[in-house]
Amino acid sequence: MSAQKGHAMKSSQIQRRQFLKLGSAALAIIPVIAFSGRAAAAINAAMRASLKYQDKPEGEKRCANCAQFVPGKTAKDRGGCKLMPGDTEISPQGYCIAWTKK
Ligand code: SF4
Repeated sequence: MSAQKGHAMKSSQIQRRQFLKLGSAALAIIPVIAFSGRAAAAINAAMRASLKYQDKPEGEKRCANCAQFVPGKTAKDRGGCKLMPGDTEISPQGYCIAWTKK
């Protein structure tokens, strides 16, 4: 009987250890997800260079009033551009030579 009890305790200790292991693995994943969330912000350097993108407006011409602009969450947030695939860091105050009146 005491051998059974000992076995039961051992089993529950193992389960507890597995649980703790899983818990610490889950905690270890959290910073990775947070990091990859930030890593999702990307620029399309090749297209920026070929379209001579700049982070400031050219007179009244700016991404915010360009037909190609894909706005971010708010009017001040960075967004995307239909001509720059994968780029999530287009400033509403930016400009490039492909500017097209909205
Ligand atoms: Fe901005 Fe140029 Fe894209 Fe228009 S085409 S949104 S000006 S980067």
